Amino acid sequence: MSSRLKRERNHVQVSWLNNRVNLGGGNPVVVQSMTNTDTSDVIKTSIQIKDLADAGSELVRITVNSKEAAKAVPDIRNQLDRMNCNIPLIGDFHFNGHKLLRDFPGCAESLSKFRINPGNIGRGEKKDTHFAEMIEIAMRLDKPIRIGVNWGSLDQELLAKRMDYNASLKNPKTPDLVMRETLVESALGSARKAQQLGMGKNKIVVSAKVSKLQDLVTVYKELYKTSDFPLHVGLTEAGLGIKGIVSSASALSILLNYGIGDTIRVSLTPQPGGDRREEVYVAQQILQSLGVRAFSPEVIACPGCGRTTSTFFQELAENVQSYVRTSMKDWSVKYPGCENLNIAVMGCVVNGPGESEQADIGISLPGTGEQPVAPVFIDGKRGPTLKGENIINDFKDLIGQYVKQRYGKLDSKTGKD
Ligand code: SF4
Repeated sequence: MSSRLKRERNHVQVSWLNNRVNLGGGNPVVVQSMTNTDTSDVIKTSIQIKDLADAGSELVRITVNSKEAAKAVPDIRNQLDRMNCNIPLIGDFHFNGHKLLRDFPGCAESLSKFRINPGNIGRGEKKDTHFAEMIEIAMRLDKPIRIGVNWGSLDQELLAKRMDYNASLKNPKTPDLVMRETLVESALGSARKAQQLGMGKNKIVVSAKVSKLQDLVTVYKELYKTSDFPLHVGLTEAGLGIKGIVSSASALSILLNYGIGDTIRVSLTPQPGGDRREEVYVAQQILQSLGVRAFSPEVIACPGCGRTTSTFFQELAENVQSYVRTSMKDWSVKYPGCENLNIAVMGCVVNGPGESEQADIGISLPGTGEQPVAPVFIDGKRGPTLKGENIINDFKDLIGQYVKQRYGKLDSKTGKD
């Protein structure tokens, strides 16, 4: 992309057993997510982590906020290992992280990375002691860390110092600007402190999340320009439903388009009883829509209009989307490269044949008043015509056959015929 900045990032590896996830250093942008179960509930938390991993999350963060949670972490790790799920786990620590990591060595060992929030580790001298204690444990166990600053828990002592200094200037800056500068200073200052304590640069990831889109962009551009730590990017407290999805997509798209972001998380507030995996799907879709990474075949569907008065068209589009999503677990192993497939599901003859011809495989359904037949286009050429009650399953069968024929013969290492 022409607007991508060119600054090289350091490389940090986060691993568990033989699963190595690489952040920065030119590696693909990594998708991560966070559980919302009570970590002390081993079964519920393990199930949610497995669901998130199966959905495509490459790292999962869990809160470690109490003795009970810290005690549960090794059990969660064992449970996941028994399920052959070797996704690296990140422990999210605030206030008492130094104590929990010290008093529960099994917890520290079972985690693959620690998130440390410099605004939530104590005040005055204690802040430095607690920070040093966490860094010492991470170094002893060879674990990477993320310095994760957040607008809502910004280091208040640092902010007060910066505000006082600003007030003494002849031409003081706006409080918002001072706040943004303090976020960057808190993140990079803490990362430098970790280095002074002996931690290697290849063990440090940085983030400074805010909830306002334009502030996030400004803060991350500054982090990007002034450091080469891999950056974890996300709009914090993005919110519910459409608002959360649109705000996150807008913010991340701007940054990713500049080449900023080595790992992303979409922080959505789920509906009560909602599906936590949504944040993974949204993150993947953002990367896929930007052409940064492909995760699963792209289903192109027209929006429908007065020419599609029945619900059949929507049912087909939804069916194809969920068929592709559920098949990917198997396809991604057997048919490497199939994530680049394009499928078109079109509602009528106006744009249906044209769009379907452009896709690898596409179907043009009959609109209202058209003959009840649905031509399928394969590799730009007209293929079978579907009709009758079984169009949905017949089309899914054709997609399955196409994937098998086109990607089944590729060499899994080279991706070539
Ligand atoms: S392809 Fe046909 S049904 Fe779909 S939006 Fe265009 S005119 Fe409407």
